[in-house]
Order: sequence, then C-alpha cells, then structure tokens
Amino acid sequence: MMSRALLSCFYSFRRTLATNAANGKVGGGCSSSPAEVLNLALTTKTPITSWTRDQVAALFGMPLNDLMFYAQVQHRQYHNPAEVQLCTLLSIKTGGCTEDCKYCSQSSHNDTGLKATKLLDLDTVYEKAKVAKQNNSTRFCMGSAWRDMKGRKSALRKIADMVRKINTELQMETCVTLGMINEEQAKTLKDAGLTAYNHNIDTSRSHYKNVISTRSYDDRLQTIQNVNDSGIKACTGGILGMGETVDDHIDFVHTLATMNKHPESLPINKLIAIKGTPIEQELKTKYKDRKLGLDNILRVISTARLLMPESIIRLAAGRYTMKEHEQLLCFNAGVNAIFTGEKMLTTMCTGWDEDIAMLKKWGYVPMEAFKKTAPREKLNVTIGANNERSVSVITGGNLELPDDKNSVKELSL
Ligand code: SF4
Repeated sequence: MMSRALLSCFYSFRRTLATNAANGKVGGGCSSSPAEVLNLALTTKTPITSWTRDQVAALFGMPLNDLMFYAQVQHRQYHNPAEVQLCTLLSIKTGGCTEDCKYCSQSSHNDTGLKATKLLDLDTVYEKAKVAKQNNSTRFCMGSAWRDMKGRKSALRKIADMVRKINTELQMETCVTLGMINEEQAKTLKDAGLTAYNHNIDTSRSHYKNVISTRSYDDRLQTIQNVNDSGIKACTGGILGMGETVDDHIDFVHTLATMNKHPESLPINKLIAIKGTPIEQELKTKYKDRKLGLDNILRVISTARLLMPESIIRLAAGRYTMKEHEQLLCFNAGVNAIFTGEKMLTTMCTGWDEDIAMLKKWGYVPMEAFKKTAPREKLNVTIGANNERSVSVITGGNLELPDDKNSVKELSL
C-alpha cells in the first residue's frame, strides 16, 4: 500500500496548565505538574498502573480543551479512531435483587413497580443474541439481578451454556454480570469461553457508602480480582451523576487506573434517576446542588483514556438522554464503544438503526469481534526540556482519506 504521508499536522505550544480548572475543586498538593503527567501518559511504552492520586488530579484539572485534545492523541496511539464497538445488553433475570443499590430499579429494597422474572431459557437468549449480531453488535452482554452466585450451581451451568452457544455459533464476544463471583465460578465461565465479566466499582470509595450498604467496595474489588485471576477480562466502570463531587470523579478514575490490570472494558453510565429509587429523591434534596454536567463526563472519559490507553471505553446506560453532539464529544474524548439495541437492562436504549445512521454520518464503522486493529495513524509525540510539546501525525498506510468522489460520498452519507 501507499506509504506516502497523506496527512501531517503539527501542534506545538508551551503553556503552564492550571490544575484547578475543574470548578476549583480539584485536589491540591500535586507532586507532579500536569505537563509532567501528560508526558508520562503519552510517551510510556506500557500502560502504567502506579498513578498517584495527585497525578490523576493534575490531568483532570487541565483546561478541558487541552485535556480532550491529548486524550484524542492518546486514543489514536492505541486504537483505530474510526472504529466503535456496538454491544447489546440483555437482562436474563430481572428484578428481586437483595442488594440495596440506591439507583437500581431491580433492588427489592426499592419500590419501582418492577416485576421480577425467572432466568430466561437458552433459546430465548440465543435468539436475542442473533438479532443483535444481525444488527452489527459484536459483543453480547447478559445481566442478572443477583447479589452473588452462591448456591446457584444450576443457574451458572445454564449461563455457561448460553455463553458457549453464543460464542461458538455466533462468534460474538460475550460478557456477563451476575454479581459477586469467586474464582471457581469465574473459571466455569472462562471454560465456557466467556470474554469478559462485568462488575462495576460504581463510584469513588468515599461516595460508595452513600449509595450501597449491602456489599462493600472491597467486595467489589475482590470480585474483579477473582475475574482477573481466572483469566477472564474485567469490564468495570461506574455511574456518573449520583450526587458525587469532582473529587469523587478523580478518586473513581484513580481506583480504575491503579488496578493490577487496567480494565479491558470500562463502561461509563450516566444515571437515569428512576422513580421509586432513593437516589431519585436525594438528587432533588441532599444533592440538589451537585448537577452532573457534560464537562464532568468529558473530564472523566478523557482522563481515563490518557491513563488507561488500552481500555475500550463504553458509553452505557443513560446515553439515550444525550444529544448527538454530546455523544460525538464523548467519542472525541476517547469513547470507542456503545450499548445499543432494544433495551439497556430495564432502561431505554437508542436502537441500532439510529445508532448506525449516527455513526455513519460521522465516519465511524462498527468494530469487529475479537479483533483489535492497529492504530490508523503513526503518531510521534515529543516533549522538550522546557515542556514544549509536539505531536506529529503521519498516516500508517491504513487510512484512506476522502480524496476521491466515492469516499467523500461515503463520509457524507
Ligand atoms: S446488585 Fe445489581 S441488580 Fe442488584 S440492586 Fe445492585 S445494581 Fe441492582
């Protein structure tokens, strides 16, 4: 293929970046300047898991415009920026959960009027996965409203069968979220071919106790450890908009970025305040002055992208409340996966047709299953002794610019 440089851009400036730009609330006392942390994040050869809280805060507090620019640079160093993975999530056992998560419609503690159901059968789940695949989803996620898998041997076997069938017959990536699991249960799922196990940390350690009391933050981290130990990839992220502060956002990203292994998949949910859940009331009273803005979401995504460059960052629940241009900004900040389809467990979801039209309009293509394609551009990031930064972008031969009529037409569909 042609190796000529099709695109070249040069961006260089020298500036001291403010640490406290994010509402003036970013934690102080940073031992590293934003420029130093940025340098480290952009030039490291292997992802770093020893970030300090101050380092995360330093990035988080950069001017948003710069933060998003460098997040995009990082994104292009590790991923093909044209690709977005479509994932579909199915509730395979709804409601009646014994946990008291204040945001959840499925908790038996919350009076949301949701009817509990039994575990769906294999054929029903398989048919749903088939429809998802026909609509370009390459990852199929299955969720059940359980605290844990203790005493659920037969259910675990049935779910392992679902995973096996979807894997082998549809060649889709699979992910399940079944509550807390031990290493042995994780191993059963691994043997069935499970790609990833989802278990979110939800929020920061300090805000967590305001949201859930029936399981601890450490229980959550232990399950993620069990998942990693069994060789399954971890899918873990959280929910924004539960009355947390900017400091909680920094702590949340810090916890994820300092896990032994960065999550392969990092879902970012925007809270849907469901009627009958305690959080819905608290957002009107206790947290009425803590509104989640788009800038907060973009800071979380951009910082996560810079610090966890290999992770697939997924816009999950609540995306349907975001306008198209807000979603585009999230892609610019480093998102490269969305949940799409009929439903997002018990909440609404933007459907495939609408999403595919939106992605096409912007020049994105659906990511293939099990296939991490090479970054599209070759980037050269250098940082001078006085913190002059230069980013040169040279195509790596994998980019077809719209230099003929057909591709222009394709991009402007
Ligand atoms: S564990 Fe999951 S299903 Fe159960 S209440 Fe919490 S969020 Fe809902």
